[in-house]
Amino acid sequence: MSQAQPPLALLAEMSHRCPLRCPYCSNPLELDRGSRELDTATWRRVLSEAAALGVLQVHFSGGEPLVRRDLAELVRHASEVGLYSNLITSAVLLDRARLGELAAAGLEHVQISFQDTEAASADRIAGMAEAHEKKLAAAALVREAGLPLTVNAVMHRQNLEHLPEMIEMAVRLGAGRLEVAHVQYYGWALINRRALLPTKGQLDRATSVVEEARARLKGVLTIDYVVPDYYARRPKSCMGGWGRQFLNISPAGKVLPCHAAESLPGFDFPSVHEANLAEIWYRSEAFNRFRGTAWMPEPCASCERREIDWGGCRCQAFALTGDAARTDPACALSPDRDVLTAARDDAEAPPSDFVYRQIGGAPTKTTATS
Ligand code: SF4
Ligand code: SF4
Repeated sequence: MSQAQPPLALLAEMSHRCPLRCPYCSNPLELDRGSRELDTATWRRVLSEAAALGVLQVHFSGGEPLVRRDLAELVRHASEVGLYSNLITSAVLLDRARLGELAAAGLEHVQISFQDTEAASADRIAGMAEAHEKKLAAAALVREAGLPLTVNAVMHRQNLEHLPEMIEMAVRLGAGRLEVAHVQYYGWALINRRALLPTKGQLDRATSVVEEARARLKGVLTIDYVVPDYYARRPKSCMGGWGRQFLNISPAGKVLPCHAAESLPGFDFPSVHEANLAEIWYRSEAFNRFRGTAWMPEPCASCERREIDWGGCRCQAFALTGDAARTDPACALSPDRDVLTAARDDAEAPPSDFVYRQIGGAPTKTTATS
């Protein structure tokens, strides 16, 4: 029997459909089609199972969760079974009527992603015309409705110079929190790494901007910021450790330890159609595979940080070394550290074109600017 604790949060990926086409999208390269999505009754059952398992928060995410017409019904059900609900959205489909419906159903928090602070650049990165304008309008509606707002700013080489403006925009919109989220390089972002990885100079400037803003905006805006893996000496505690705090359900019902885990080959991730969440969380081979420290190779196995960062990210280890069971190369002690050094050198060269995410068909490109 596993010694695992219950999870704290569930990331419910309602759909991979999304009107935007961000080249760093964290969805897998093989996107689930709408016809494979879980139906309303199954999501209701899964939310009940999550609450019974001990989950406290559900993050309704995607793709774009607002493409689901049953979202308010599911938010209501989450509220009825005692889950705190957060909407993670691009917000381009969020109008007053929809927000009113969700607030009445018990939605407690909204997180809106922004691609940049200037409309032309933001729309180019999102791959959608007028997206930025729609996001600004939706953010104003969220605050008008009295809901707390987090601005999620995915930062990279092509927008990092606008970080001061991003911070001011978050304050102007009335956000209580700004997540300065550096791109994570797997899936779509790994394909686009030469277009997105910031230079060392950009990163150092961004870190100073955040330090200054944190001091100046204390009590007004909380800023989440961590140095991106490619420039860190030690990895982050990815998801708080494999199978320790979070679980993720894909649109088609796969239960995963994180949103990127479907990129790992050789894993038979269980489906909500096969077993209930408690059985999957405690007993499945997939959730126990990298849980705890017994699986670790050296140098992690004898490292004093092994229960702090849990050896870093399994998906990044696989993406960079071809083996999910190796130490994350984001750690300077990893024997594979040179793969990051090579990528950082690449970041000093001109950026490549974007490959936009899309369901099926050939990837499309556009010219990059640095
Ligand atoms: S990252 Fe962009 S494309 Fe991917 S789900 Fe979010 S808004 Fe849509
Ligand atoms: S050796 Fe492993 S446990 Fe130690 S800091 Fe590096 S990744 Fe973390």
